[in-house]
Amino acid sequence: MTEKFEPGHVVVVGAGLGGVRTIERLRAEGYSGRITLVGAEPHPPYDRPPLSKQILKGQWEPERAVLRDGPALAELDVAVRLGARAVALRGTTVELAGGGSVSGDAVVIATGVVARKLPGQPDGVYTLRTLDDALALRGVLDSARSLLVVGAGFIGAEVACAAAERGVAVTALEAGAVPCERALGAKAGALAARLFTEAGVELVCGAALSRFADARTVELSDGSRRTADAVLVSVGATPDLTWLEDAGLNTGDGLACDARGRAVGAERVWAVGDAAAWWDASRGAHRRDEHWTAVIEQAATVARDIVGADTPAAPPAYVWSDQFGMKVQTVGRTGEADEVLTLHGEGLDGGPVKGTVVGYFTGGALTGVASFGAPALFVRYRALVASGADRASVLAQAGK
Ligand SMILES: Cc1cc2nc3c(=O)[nH]c(=O)nc-3n(C[C@H](O)[C@H](O)[C@H](O)COP(=O)(O)OP(=O)(O)OC[C@H]3O[C@@H](n4cnc5c(N)ncnc54)[C@H](O)[C@@H]3O)c2cc1C
Repeated sequence: MTEKFEPGHVVVVGAGLGGVRTIERLRAEGYSGRITLVGAEPHPPYDRPPLSKQILKGQWEPERAVLRDGPALAELDVAVRLGARAVALRGTTVELAGGGSVSGDAVVIATGVVARKLPGQPDGVYTLRTLDDALALRGVLDSARSLLVVGAGFIGAEVACAAAERGVAVTALEAGAVPCERALGAKAGALAARLFTEAGVELVCGAALSRFADARTVELSDGSRRTADAVLVSVGATPDLTWLEDAGLNTGDGLACDARGRAVGAERVWAVGDAAAWWDASRGAHRRDEHWTAVIEQAATVARDIVGADTPAAPPAYVWSDQFGMKVQTVGRTGEADEVLTLHGEGLDGGPVKGTVVGYFTGGALTGVASFGAPALFVRYRALVASGADRASVLAQAGK
C-alpha cells in the first residue's frame, strides 16, 4: 500500500519541464496546499526541444517555447522564485544563493543537467543547453560561414541540421564510429551518418580531439587541425546536483531514487527529470534518462506519490529528434541488442533512410524500435516493445 502523506507545502527546485509538469500534475491530482517553485534562470519556465530546432532556425521567438508564464503560474497558485539558485538542502529546507531559504514539507528536485565541457575548452566555444545558449548560437549563425560541431549525438545532429539549412558549411566531428551510437547502436547509427552526409554536412567519425588551439580551431589526435567561424561542443551533459554535495545523498550519476522518484536515503524528497536516476527493476540498476517524455511520466508519478495515490508502472522510454527533414523516433532499448533487423524500408540495404524502421531483439524478444521518418509505422510497435513481443510475431506484424 502507498503510504498516505499530505504535505502542506511542496517546494519544487528547478523551473524547467520537470518542475512545471510536477506542479501541474499536483494540482490535477487535487493537491490544494502551498507550492513554491525555485528556479536559477531569470526566464519564465521554457521547453528545451525547440532550442535546437525552431529557435535555432529562427522560426520561433523565445516566447513560443515558454511552458507557463507568470499569469499561468499564478493560475496554479504557485509562489515563484526565479533567478534564485538553490545552494543546499537541509532536510526539506532549500537554501538559496544570497542567504534566503524556503522550507517545505516535501521537496521535488528537478534541476536538470548542465552541458559537459571538454578539457581545456576555451571561452567562446559554444554549448547548447539553455535559452541563452540557443540565442547566442543563433546570433553567431546569422553571420558565420562555417561551424564545427564536436559530438554527433541527437543535439549535435539537430544543430548541424539547423546550421546547414541556414547555409552554413558544417563539419561534425564524432569520436565514435557512427553518430548517435549511444542512442541507436552501430547498425542504425550508420543510417544517422547518412542523414548527415546526404544533407551536405561533412562528417568525420573516429575523430579524437586532442586539444583546442583556440576558440575556433581544434587539433585532432592525428595532428590535423580543423577550424571554423564557430565551434559547438555537444558531448552530453552532467546532472546539476553540486548543490546537494552536503546533503548526504547518492548523486553519483543523477540523484538515486526508488521507482516512484523518492530520493534514496532522504525523507520527503523526490526527484524528476534529467537530474534523477530512478530505480529500473528490469535492469536491476538506477537509470537516468534525458528525454522529454520520461520527464512527463516521472512528474505524473511523483505528483501521485506525493498525494498518496497509486503510481503506474513506467512505459518503455520514448524519444524523438527532428533531423534533416525527418522525425527520428526510438522506443525502448535501442543502444544495444543481440540482433537489429529491418522491419520496414530499405535503409539498412543501402536504400533511402527515410521510411526505415528497425527492431532491436534481445533473447528473441523485441526490446526496442527506431524509426527514420516513418511515424505512422513506428506507432505500431510501442505496445509490442512494452510486451516484449517475440521475433516471429513482430516480423509478422511487419509483413515479413
Ligand atoms: C537543445 C535540447 C533539445 C532537446 N530536444 C529533445 C527532443 O527532441 N526530444 C526529447 O525527448 N528530449 C529533448 N531534449 C531533452 C529534454 O528537453 C529534457 O529531457 C528536459 O528538458 C529535462 O527536464 P528537466 O526538468 O529535468 O530539466 P531542465 O528542463 O533542464 O530544467 C532544469 C531547470 O533547473 C534549473 N536549475 C538547475 N540547478 C538549479 C538550482 N541549484 N537551483 C534552482 N534551479 C536550478 C535550471 O536552470 C533549469 O531551468 C532536449 C534538450 C535540449 C537541451
